[in-house]
Amino acid sequence: MKQRIIIIGAGISGLYAAMQLEQQFEVTILEARERVGGRALSINGHDLGPSWIWSHHKHALELVSSLGLEMFLQYTEGLALYQTTDVQCFNPPPQEPAARIVGGIGAFTEAIVNSLSKTQIRLNEAVTSIVKKSEGLQVYTKNTNYEADFVINTMPPRIAANIEYSPPLPFSQVELLRSIPTWMGYVVKVVVTYETAFWRDEGLSGFAFCHSRPLSEVHDAVTKDEAALFGFAGSRYADNDFKEKVIEQLTKLFGHKAKEYKNIYVVDWNREAFTAVIEDMAPLASHPQYGYDINAMDGKLLFAGTESSFGEGGYIEGAIRSALRNIDKVIKISEK
Ligand SMILES: Cc1cc2nc3c(=O)[nH]c(=O)nc-3n(C[C@H](O)[C@H](O)[C@H](O)COP(=O)(O)OP(=O)(O)OC[C@H]3O[C@@H](n4cnc5c(N)ncnc54)[C@H](O)[C@@H]3O)c2cc1C
Repeated sequence: MKQRIIIIGAGISGLYAAMQLEQQFEVTILEARERVGGRALSINGHDLGPSWIWSHHKHALELVSSLGLEMFLQYTEGLALYQTTDVQCFNPPPQEPAARIVGGIGAFTEAIVNSLSKTQIRLNEAVTSIVKKSEGLQVYTKNTNYEADFVINTMPPRIAANIEYSPPLPFSQVELLRSIPTWMGYVVKVVVTYETAFWRDEGLSGFAFCHSRPLSEVHDAVTKDEAALFGFAGSRYADNDFKEKVIEQLTKLFGHKAKEYKNIYVVDWNREAFTAVIEDMAPLASHPQYGYDINAMDGKLLFAGTESSFGEGGYIEGAIRSALRNIDKVIKISEK
């Protein structure tokens, strides 16, 4: 009989781990949300989570291409804008643009799910505790429980610190998990759609760097079907009239045409209970030094997810690398 693996979380890390393990093991993914993808989320083809894959993110690029998905480069032609009390144009230094996936990041997670032939994915299954038994592990959700030989937990570390473990994890491990911020856990991402990419016609790239608020950065987010701009804001700026303030700021930056928007999509990642905690609202001064390795419950409970990756932690690439590290471990332990 095949050994059973429970993967907690159907983000990129969990889905990728399932892809690699499902032939050798009986794999079940338990996902708290009603959808797959975790931080990878597209709405109507627009990315409300990640959009970019950089050329040095080899595992991510290989995966995208092995799934038969097409990519295109982030639009960067033309002048950029710099906003303080007024708005100035500048010519940004040349830089290799990141790549985006045709159909958005949602097409990526959908393609991974479609490639899975044996994995069971159970949605709306928020894991509440993991208990070590004399043989194997028992994973409890609000609804039911599952037996497993191994568990790979891909929850963001601060979320992972908040479930119960029996026997409890050593205090130092819980402290470690609590100390690691969720990448982008302080961010609101906003996508505003338009009839046309009018900024391109006016010689602008769509990129703006802003000292004003709510948006600190704006980028072109045109998809194959629709013109759009996206912006990042800190979660603490997401008050009741946030959308109005966004449109006001875009109008200051790009002129009156920015007022004539079609739709505005907003996701405040700090308020997503399966991504971030309130401590994540503090903006990060720089990209944290991610990477941790926790083996618990005799090596049968492993921790993956992008923040656990020692290389490119925080990014899609890190999510994949963290899965790879744990896949190797599971295979080695299972062969003993
Ligand atoms: C706004 C934004 C922009 C970004 N931009 C980029 C970018 O351009 N390029 C890039 O490379 N990266 C970017 N990132 C980061 C990228 O999204 C992440 O690195 C990647 O998606 C993390 O995948 P993961 O599987 O490790 O974690 P997650 O996607 O967080 O997956 C964890 C999963 O665990 C589930 N879960 C949590 N608690 C439980 C529970 N109790 N029981 C069961 N399931 C649970 C969650 O619902 C989730 O599905 C961005 C992120 C955000 C939010």
